[in-house]
Amino acid sequence: MAKSTESQKTGEKLTRQRDAVLQVIRERADHPTANEIFQAARLRLPTISYATVYNSLRFLKEAGLVHEIKFGDSASRYDRETDRHDHAICTGCGKLVDFDLPQAAELMVVAARKSKFKPESVHLTLRGLCPDCRKTPSSTRV
Ligand code: ZN
Ligand code: MN
Repeated sequence: MAKSTESQKTGEKLTRQRDAVLQVIRERADHPTANEIFQAARLRLPTISYATVYNSLRFLKEAGLVHEIKFGDSASRYDRETDRHDHAICTGCGKLVDFDLPQAAELMVVAARKSKFKPESVHLTLRGLCPDCRKTPSSTRV
């Protein structure tokens, strides 16, 4: 999963701030929000500002080093995994986990036929209650 050629790939300096933001995302499997990334980045670089984190996220996204995931109007989540994969999001606690559905490629063909679009990508999001929230039905909703 780790890619070692990011500096060559972006052809641009990965500043200390950008690198700190990238490392925060790569250390986590939980798809953090910009605010969560900011909190963790501050532990590495106490002087880093939210604006710098925000700009770094935009840079890393445009460089293809992280993926941004948007769900309606809730805060974007950031993903260290840039290869195609699918997600399950918990409607109870907001937990966002990865999975891979091999049948997605076939679904994309069918979806393209029905929509008459030229397909580029497909990403499935399963919504429901995670195993923890299923155990505690009174959990607070987000
Ligand atoms: Zn949950
Ligand atoms: Mn993911």
